[in-house]
Amino acid sequence: MSRSFDLVVIGSGAAAGNIASQCRAAGWSVAMVDKRPFGGTCALRGCDPKKVLVSAAAAVDAGRVLAGKGVEPDGLRLDWPALMQFKRTFTDPVPAARRTALAKAGIETFDGVARFVGATRITVDGEMLEATRALAIATGAVPVPLPIEGSEHVMISDDFLNLDSLPSSIVFIGGGYISFEFAHVAARAGASVTIVHRGARPLEAFDRDLVARLVDRTRELGIDLRLSTEVRRVESARGRSRVVGFAESEEVAFETDLVVHGAGRVPDLEELNLEAAGVRRSGAGVVVNEYLQSVSNPMVYAAGDCADSGGPPLSPVAGYEGRIAAANLLEGNHLKTEYSTVPSVVFTIPPLARVGLDEDEARRQELRFTVRLEDTSGWNSSRRVGERHSAFKVLVEDGTDRIVGAHLLGPRADETINVFALAMRAGIPASQLRRMLWAYPTYASDIAYY
Ligand SMILES: Cc1cc2nc3c(=O)[nH]c(=O)nc-3n(C[C@H](O)[C@H](O)[C@H](O)COP(=O)(O)OP(=O)(O)OC[C@H]3O[C@@H](n4cnc5c(N)ncnc54)[C@H](O)[C@@H]3O)c2cc1C
Repeated sequence: MSRSFDLVVIGSGAAAGNIASQCRAAGWSVAMVDKRPFGGTCALRGCDPKKVLVSAAAAVDAGRVLAGKGVEPDGLRLDWPALMQFKRTFTDPVPAARRTALAKAGIETFDGVARFVGATRITVDGEMLEATRALAIATGAVPVPLPIEGSEHVMISDDFLNLDSLPSSIVFIGGGYISFEFAHVAARAGASVTIVHRGARPLEAFDRDLVARLVDRTRELGIDLRLSTEVRRVESARGRSRVVGFAESEEVAFETDLVVHGAGRVPDLEELNLEAAGVRRSGAGVVVNEYLQSVSNPMVYAAGDCADSGGPPLSPVAGYEGRIAAANLLEGNHLKTEYSTVPSVVFTIPPLARVGLDEDEARRQELRFTVRLEDTSGWNSSRRVGERHSAFKVLVEDGTDRIVGAHLLGPRADETINVFALAMRAGIPASQLRRMLWAYPTYASDIAYY
């Protein structure tokens, strides 16, 4: 049996949601398919549940770092099972609520793995869906397969976010943002934590000077951060694991209760059978033009983590690309993607944030700019909350006073970075931003001295 829709959307996350709802609002008939519970990664297995854990860990940390400074932190600790229960009050209602909203909007939902059988046709659980106007791929990303022996003993981020009890020791493979965020939570919860990273520098997408300070903070927490160490295999016996790697050709091994994959994610495209639709892909996703249209099948658009669009794999970017794709589908290709002022945050405690260019990128663009780097750990805003690691780096173009990049580490850096993103998007020059009348004393009011 075959069903026809103006638009078939594969996925139900931030990108898919916007494409489907905008096209439906314009009167198109729309089908949405997902192989997992509806709602996508951010709401169910990513940003939102993670931030619940980070918030609890930050509350505990806030008391601990003010110990002896007017706060008695005795008895302040994370209750992991209760925290998990609290987290589920955010995630459990999502699939049903999402389906209800989709049904109310008149979007038909299908459960199962979507697989192309032609340029505009897919099968889902034995049913054939035909797209008469367009097909949108918004299938997100999954952890990259680990090319190591014993990878079946390694848990992925989905599992970590569902742990009923926290083991006493955890090894994270990979030194990216997911490992750092989870490690900071687990350490505050009392686990003994190791991060094993292949490169010499963790969090490579973030400013090196600020990362160095975050590394100090991470190590002070007791997290064992091993750099230039490549994991080769994971052994498991009697409920314990052994992670074996090489550092400068010396074998190193870590005994642990749990091993977690934090070594990066790749577009989730393997099950789609893209060849049947003539949809070209690269390692970074479905190859699209600047309108998010497939370069090899004009009926197909792609958005979010699964698209090779040049945009970073972040939730707001997925939502933004969904809106761009929908507008181009409805009105013809006219909106192009633009990513120069997308802020990005590592939700460690304290958080690390960036927007715009880093120094290397600015140099590659042959910009002439001045760097303002300052350690702010002695400033009132850090001292009053007991934070001993904070700093900023702002890049301002010579002559134009344009802010080309901002990098922040410290309390509320995750919020303050939005001020810089707004200023950069609105073209507010650095000197004007400093002269703003800010509410005082706030983290934004520190910008007056940046
Ligand atoms: C642990 C973690 C923490 C994160 N934290 C942040 C954060 O703090 N901030 C931030 O901005 N981003 C964060 N992200 C990234 C963010 O979650 C993603 O960028 C975003 O969810 C991508 O949205 P999407 O719409 O592209 O895809 P997704 O939300 O991943 O949705 C894709 C959907 O497609 C479905 N699907 C895949 N293949 C098929 C198929 N063949 N058939 C049917 N259905 C299919 C999947 O089941 C999935 O539900 C985090 C990610 C993780 C894993």
